[in-house]
Amino acid sequence: MTFELTPRTGPGATVVTAAESLVTTFAERAEAADAENEMCRENFDDLFTSGISSAFVPQELGGFGLESIHDWTLAIATLARGDASTAIAITMHHAIARRMAQIYSLANTDLGPDHELTRDLAAPLRKMASGEMLVCATATEIGTDNLHPVTEVVRHRHGDRDGWRINGQKIFVTMSPIATHVSTVARLRDDDGDNMANIVLPMDTPGLLPQNDWDALGMRGSGSQSVVFKDAWVPESALSRIGPWGKWSLKYLEFRAIANIVLVGAFLGIAEAAYDIALAKLLTRSRVGQLAAEQSGIQNLVGEMALELAQCRAVLGAAGVQMDEYCERHSTSAASMEDAHGLMNDYQTAKWTVNRGAIGVVSKAMDLLGGSGYTNSHVLGRLYRDVRAGPFMQPFGPAELREYVGQVTLGQYPER
Ligand SMILES: Cc1cc2nc3c(=O)[nH]c(=O)nc-3n(C[C@H](O)[C@H](O)[C@H](O)COP(=O)(O)OP(=O)(O)OC[C@H]3O[C@@H](n4cnc5c(N)ncnc54)[C@H](O)[C@@H]3O)c2cc1C
Repeated sequence: MTFELTPRTGPGATVVTAAESLVTTFAERAEAADAENEMCRENFDDLFTSGISSAFVPQELGGFGLESIHDWTLAIATLARGDASTAIAITMHHAIARRMAQIYSLANTDLGPDHELTRDLAAPLRKMASGEMLVCATATEIGTDNLHPVTEVVRHRHGDRDGWRINGQKIFVTMSPIATHVSTVARLRDDDGDNMANIVLPMDTPGLLPQNDWDALGMRGSGSQSVVFKDAWVPESALSRIGPWGKWSLKYLEFRAIANIVLVGAFLGIAEAAYDIALAKLLTRSRVGQLAAEQSGIQNLVGEMALELAQCRAVLGAAGVQMDEYCERHSTSAASMEDAHGLMNDYQTAKWTVNRGAIGVVSKAMDLLGGSGYTNSHVLGRLYRDVRAGPFMQPFGPAELREYVGQVTLGQYPER
């Protein structure tokens, strides 16, 4: 494969190898999950036993100690070749685990030893490694964007404990039917101003109400139902402030760029699966006595698919390397807002290129297979539907993305 992505780090190679071992099994289970519109729990058992779900947990706490964004993206692309719904679902948990592991590791060094923080984070990270904690993550709400959550927390005392109460509704809460915890963002207005807060709550918190309303065109096995918060209690320890409401902050820009680029990997994986299926068929199929692979029209189409896939891989691989280098450069010193917009811009560029390319490749695979691929029972139908979810993953949707890239390119960094 031209520009084939390969792991850059030892832990990355371990995770990618583990992911490769699951592709066939996931592909075999995907049709039933898609038809039943249900998450495939066995896949998540496999992600746990293979160590993939706790990939970011530091080795001393029982994980693989993965750090590379490039390798993470490759592992997700690999899983998506089998089942993209499962692949995007586990990214949510990974993103939260990665952030915890990063703070844990920093707090554990001579640079900023913070034994209390290290102790606080070791417990949930160990729970992730033992399979007791699986976190879904949501920012999305109806009628607003990720920077302007309407879901709100207000001060509330519960017995003798200080804390908060949360009200609102989140949509597209991927993996929530099987998660043990949810990580979400909400508005917080108090004497310190108008801010955004990150909140992590157990899924069985009273007042946290899953809506069981996921019924989409594709990614049907991702469990992306809505979740309502109705006066749910938030203890003080479950909340942290992440920056001003309605404005990009350094932390939020970095988190969203890094957490979301891996989703792009899933759409590359879908395209690779469609390409492999089409090629396998063409090598054995004949028409009017001529092998399909010997026909020039077919050769042209396959060439175009190969070119598109090469572009997708090259851009996504380069973006992964840029992100790794960014994280290394800023591991102990803060980046500037311009640096962080550059990071977000890399993600947007990769997203634009890969999602458009992946949709093109899957569509051409459909052209190549013709009628035989155009049935509900054929795997290509699922890939065709799943790949369409890529472009509108926030931030930013296709209607906003080019404007953002133009702004950053012109040095007009948007504040909101
Ligand atoms: C497969 C998938 C998984 C996603 N996972 C996550 C995630 O884990 N966390 C996260 O924060 N965001 C997630 N998103 C959201 C994503 O990032 C975008 O925000 C989302 O696609 C909407 O963007 P939009 O700009 O098109 O908004 P809009 O077009 O405004 O989309 C929102 C609209 O979608 C419709 N809608 C949403 N959910 C339902 C439902 N259950 N039933 C009926 N209608 C519904 C409603 O009409 C709602 O107004 C996911 C999206 C998809 C497609």
